[in-house]
Amino acid sequence: MVEPTQHDFIVIGAGMAGASIAAELAARGSVALLEAEPHAGYHATGRSAALFSELYGNAVIRALTRASRTFLFDPPAGFAEAPLVRPRPCLFIARADQAEALADFRARTGLAGATLDAAQIQAQVPILTPDRVAAAALDTGSADIDVDGLLQGCLRRARQRGAQLMLDAPVRAISRHGGQWRVDTGATTFAAPVVINAAGAWANAVAGLAGVAPVPLQPLRRTAMLIDAPAGLDIAAWPAVVDVDEQFYFKPDAGLLLISPADEHPSEPCDAQPEELDIAIAADRFERATGLAVQRVRHRWAGLRVFAPDRTPVVGFAATSPGFFWLAGQGGYGIQTAPALARLAAALACREALPSDLLALGLNAAALSPARFCHPISEGVAPCA
Ligand SMILES: Cc1cc2nc3c(=O)[nH]c(=O)nc-3n(C[C@H](O)[C@H](O)[C@H](O)COP(=O)(O)OP(=O)(O)OC[C@H]3O[C@@H](n4cnc5c(N)ncnc54)[C@H](O)[C@@H]3O)c2cc1C
Repeated sequence: MVEPTQHDFIVIGAGMAGASIAAELAARGSVALLEAEPHAGYHATGRSAALFSELYGNAVIRALTRASRTFLFDPPAGFAEAPLVRPRPCLFIARADQAEALADFRARTGLAGATLDAAQIQAQVPILTPDRVAAAALDTGSADIDVDGLLQGCLRRARQRGAQLMLDAPVRAISRHGGQWRVDTGATTFAAPVVINAAGAWANAVAGLAGVAPVPLQPLRRTAMLIDAPAGLDIAAWPAVVDVDEQFYFKPDAGLLLISPADEHPSEPCDAQPEELDIAIAADRFERATGLAVQRVRHRWAGLRVFAPDRTPVVGFAATSPGFFWLAGQGGYGIQTAPALARLAAALACREALPSDLLALGLNAAALSPARFCHPISEGVAPCA
């Protein structure tokens, strides 16, 4: 039998989660980063809307996003050839009947600043007419993220630190022998005391291969499309426009407009594809807000955002499977939180104290731990395996 290739850590999945933690762990030990697809970032990571917003998500997500700001806005020397972010204010819009939702949103997120009236909104985004949009709040701290720049920076850093990246390497079997995990891709077998499950929508499938109990993760499909910019308008400096009830959003994207109906359809793990109905809903919601007809869809896609029931990522060692580490459930925030989440996860995977800047923001291991889903047998629910 061929001896397995020995490492300190095996990371499964080279999306944003796997690439970013591989870069962190490679500073502490040897890493194999295994990706099923021929190129990294093919699934959720390559399909995001690329937005950074500190107002997005629950309190844990907001803290992780805040903690990622410095890295994204001022990356370490040599990490990326171009800026990782470009400022892109976010305009949260409300119709007259959404006034209460706008007030709630402000209270929940702490977004300060005056409420914009219809004329001020139209000055920002001329296609938002007063008869359709009554009020808005502007977040000037948000940005577009260069997702590929961030992903490639993480992969480069991981490789420079000695990590072995294997593409076209779907993990097919995982077993445990004498305190080590053996991970088999068909072509090669790897061994390490610690396996990081960063398999996105396939995280429970990977756990199943290892005989580890699943955690409640649900992939939800989200659709996006690109349309032509309205004729005669320079959209480059427009803010991202987000319905305050998150029924849709649109934003400039390389000269075109990216629109999403902000849909969330439960899905099996798969190469997600957009459905005609969701494209039609996106067009309809855009048309209702602007009065403009969508003439031509230039490009359409869908991706899976993976959520735990509390919409907080699942990060930490499995309760009763030594060395099996979860890094999953990043939902719709896995790009903007990646720098901080990777540092937090790497510290936990190495059984180190959490970085002090993350603790100062109120982050703690328990809030993210997979153990939060364990139940005593007496409750009649399956305990963690
Ligand atoms: C339409 C849309 C808009 C979004 N907008 C934003 C946004 O504006 N801001 C933001 O921060 N986030 C956004 N997100 C969310 C973000 O894209 C995800 O949270 C993030 O990409 C998750 O990264 P990941 O590495 O966990 O998953 P993925 O990128 O899916 O990576 C998982 C990888 O694991 C691999 N894998 C699975 N099984 C195996 C196996 N057995 N062996 C080897 N490899 C395996 C897969 O091939 C895949 O490459 C959006 C997502 C979508 C779909």
